[in-house]
Amino acid sequence: MLQPSTIATVKATAPVLAVHGYAIIQRFYQRLFEAQPELKNIFNMRHQERGEQQRALAAAVLAYATHIDNLSVLGPAVDRITHKHASLNVQPAQYAVVGEHLLAAIKEVLGDAATGDIVAAWAEAYQALADIMIGAEASLYDEAQRRPGGWRGWRNFVVRHKRMESEVITSFFLEPEDGRPIADFKPGQYISIVVDVPRLGLQQVRQYSLSDAPNGRNYRISVKREREGEPETAGYVSNLLHDYVNRGDVVRITPPFGPFHIDMEATSPVVLVSGGVGLTPLVSMLKAVLKNTDRDVVFVHGARNGAVHAMKDRIEAAAETNRRLTSIVFYDAPLPSDVLGYDYDHEGLVDLRRIAASAVKADADYYVCGPMPFMRAQVEALRALGVPDARVHYEVFGTDVFEE
Ligand code: FAD
Repeated sequence: MLQPSTIATVKATAPVLAVHGYAIIQRFYQRLFEAQPELKNIFNMRHQERGEQQRALAAAVLAYATHIDNLSVLGPAVDRITHKHASLNVQPAQYAVVGEHLLAAIKEVLGDAATGDIVAAWAEAYQALADIMIGAEASLYDEAQRRPGGWRGWRNFVVRHKRMESEVITSFFLEPEDGRPIADFKPGQYISIVVDVPRLGLQQVRQYSLSDAPNGRNYRISVKREREGEPETAGYVSNLLHDYVNRGDVVRITPPFGPFHIDMEATSPVVLVSGGVGLTPLVSMLKAVLKNTDRDVVFVHGARNGAVHAMKDRIEAAAETNRRLTSIVFYDAPLPSDVLGYDYDHEGLVDLRRIAASAVKADADYYVCGPMPFMRAQVEALRALGVPDARVHYEVFGTDVFEE
């Protein structure tokens, strides 16, 4: 339990952090990587280059100071971050290193304004949060290991099959190299994969949602090649996976984690709303729900056109043979062949207001995944259509952001 005086002191630093938080975090990462360059293998160096990680951590520190007297507000964000840490195989000792450099950066950037009381209060507050997260991560590691077929940390998997799903998305079917069973997961969860990135002279870890329902044999991930713009801005890991990771190759992954998953016990209708590669966790949910429940499902998907629309034929075929599934497709830049083939239902960006009659159902649960602007639009539309926030669940494919 934090002392009331600690809570008051940390909360009083919120306005200063709002101004200097980014500078503190920038200095923190510089110090951290100078002292322990090997940590660059664990952190997403693209997020570092683009300042995304710095912004996310500065926002997290500010949110902690702001809500330190009512931490329940941060519950969902802490949950997302502890799952991400478990997926990255973060270890308790790493919290001490981070704490040391964070406090040093606060002192350096704030100078005399960082009085002894302030530094002591932040040290206590940091340790309290670290203890909560270390405890939560320990439970996640234990649970992942105890599950039948489960494990802890990195495990070798062989790429048994690689399949192009569209011009930009390729699926990898992964089986454990040791031939032993693999753990089931909750549809919607993801794994982390680590690869050597020669361009950086480092390893890099990325998360990929499992795109098939649990099947006891393999895990499937479906990866979009991120290659817009200049060659140097092409995604480090997705391009390596597309170009160099082939059938028979061995990759290392951590067990499935993630708080975004469908409740398989529920009986309510399910509405799955995806944009682009955001369909991956929702396809896993779709397959699991159709196979193991008798719930009605609406699968709404938005893509640019048929060339980049992954898994189109299989979802269409499932909708044709299953009366419980309604599939609704939006293309915002259809090709002439899409028009000729009647391959989509609506032209434009996904707009739930246009399909409210089929996609908005009393008591339905909504699962949304796609690029940030896409998700904002869907969450806003669902609110406007009267869907309670508690029914809307979403996954972010980028950095974790503490939301106010
Ligand atoms: P990075 O090198 O990390 O670059 C990220 C993006 O920034 C790229 O699009 C790159 O082109 C762009 N970029 C880089 N520099 C610049 C610049 N200067 N200006 C503008 N743009 C720039 N991805 C999937 O494909 N499938 C999934 O199922 C999936 N599931 C995920 C689940 C979770 C929980 C999370 C957190 C992420 C998921 N992702 C998924 C995203 C995935 O983890 C990677 O972030 C993605 O593959 C990009 O990684 P990369 O190393 O190729 O790109």
